[in-house]
Amino acid sequence: MRKLRVGVIDLVAKGPTRALFARVMNANFAAIMPQVIATWCEQEGHDVTFVCYTGFENLVEELPDNVDLVFIGAFTEAAQLAYALSNLFRSRGAVTVIGGPHARCYPQDAVKYFDYVLGFTDRAVICEVLEDCSEHRPIGMCVAAKQQPLALPGVRERWKFIEPTLKKAPFIKMVPMIGSLGCPYTCSFCIDSVIPYQPLDCDVIKEDLKFLLQKFKRPLVGWHDPNFGVRFNDIMNAIEEAAPPDSIDFIAESSLSLLSEPHLKRLKQNGFKALLPGIESWYDLGDKSKTGRTKGLDKVRQVSDHVNMILSYMPYIQTNFVLGLDSDEGAEPFELTKRFVDLAPGAFPGYSLLSAFGQAAPLNLEYQRADRVLPFPFQFLNNNQAMNVKPKNYSWPDFYNHVIDLVEYTYSWRAIFNRGRANKGMIPRWMNVVRAVSSEGFGRIKYHTEVRRRLDTDRQFRRYFERESTELPQFYLDLARRDLGSLWEWLPKGAMDHDTNAYLKSVMM
Ligand code: SF4
Repeated sequence: MRKLRVGVIDLVAKGPTRALFARVMNANFAAIMPQVIATWCEQEGHDVTFVCYTGFENLVEELPDNVDLVFIGAFTEAAQLAYALSNLFRSRGAVTVIGGPHARCYPQDAVKYFDYVLGFTDRAVICEVLEDCSEHRPIGMCVAAKQQPLALPGVRERWKFIEPTLKKAPFIKMVPMIGSLGCPYTCSFCIDSVIPYQPLDCDVIKEDLKFLLQKFKRPLVGWHDPNFGVRFNDIMNAIEEAAPPDSIDFIAESSLSLLSEPHLKRLKQNGFKALLPGIESWYDLGDKSKTGRTKGLDKVRQVSDHVNMILSYMPYIQTNFVLGLDSDEGAEPFELTKRFVDLAPGAFPGYSLLSAFGQAAPLNLEYQRADRVLPFPFQFLNNNQAMNVKPKNYSWPDFYNHVIDLVEYTYSWRAIFNRGRANKGMIPRWMNVVRAVSSEGFGRIKYHTEVRRRLDTDRQFRRYFERESTELPQFYLDLARRDLGSLWEWLPKGAMDHDTNAYLKSVMM
């Protein structure tokens, strides 16, 4: 095989930014798979240039002029940026590949702009692309393994690509690790709900933790497992064998059902500082929050007690909710979440607007069959800038009234003060205040309020929401253009549109 000049780009940001929070945190959101692909390409003997794009780099300058093959890893919100980059690198003679969540959710769209679109990606898939490395146009080639890889290169092997990424993070430097793939739970909206749970090799994890203890005085590790601690004893044994108690700080996403008091004690002893459990709904998904059939106010009380108990062991907790699920109706779900904000004041609630990401989850077929999916460009599909599923039980103005009311309540000065009082330690307090007054809190109140205003005052805007028109309102077009900055001119023709029912059509063929 000829030696290739390979570029690997991890798109953490969806366009250029100057935001302070992005400067501090974006490099900490680097994904693992682009680092894995860069490692595999190098191990296959190719020259690799790796860039984690945090919104501050000039991507065109950072990659060599004469790159042969460019891999781009992207979430759907960065798809338009990925499409523009592909167009630009193709114009310079490169062959382009997209992988990551967007490629998995929208392969039918991505093939229009890339030579290869990756599904499940293991080393054999990467070798196939490296060997073929040829143009597939106008329609790209989909390449996928049958399942997730059984093993991944650990931190030691990926270090060459982790280190320069962490250099971009000025204060907090979080190393991405992963102990498992998939999830045994079946939350209907989740991309991991259809992927069998599979633990990764504990020996690699132990090696990596020992390695990090040589690199940092006190490492900070962010676990990228979709649901950390499913095989709780195995992973905790590995941590305890590799590192002295409380010598590494850890952050993980885990479901409440896994966070019993004995587990929390052990997590605390081993340095866990922040947990991000999903609560999602007061009426649904009782398994993952260990609330079984308990619903409504009873579930609020039970979950609040649980969250307060977690806070007695952990300095930081973010609780995630999905707004607009079909099980929600009327004001009650929003009022219940407000009660939760009162009863568990130390938690930072993260809200996501219900979104259907292409073929991420079988539930999306139902939305597509019912013609409820809106054609918002990918750039807005980040769980808050747009909700691309028409709510089942709300009109749009009604829904946004409830969302604004809840967000205002959650990020009011009163709630910010209560949160500060309930948190222990300077860093959690500081984090929560910054998050509440920045784009995540105040910024969202402003944004949702503007959307709500336009639903009343802008006829074309409302028609788009009601599925009476597919013409993108100027408001979103202006935002998209601003987001992409100078790369807007490289966006291929038609790349702002996609077929909202592509998944349904693909299963009917
Ligand atoms: S528990 Fe979390 S990772 Fe697992 S299916 Fe539900 S949302 Fe997805």
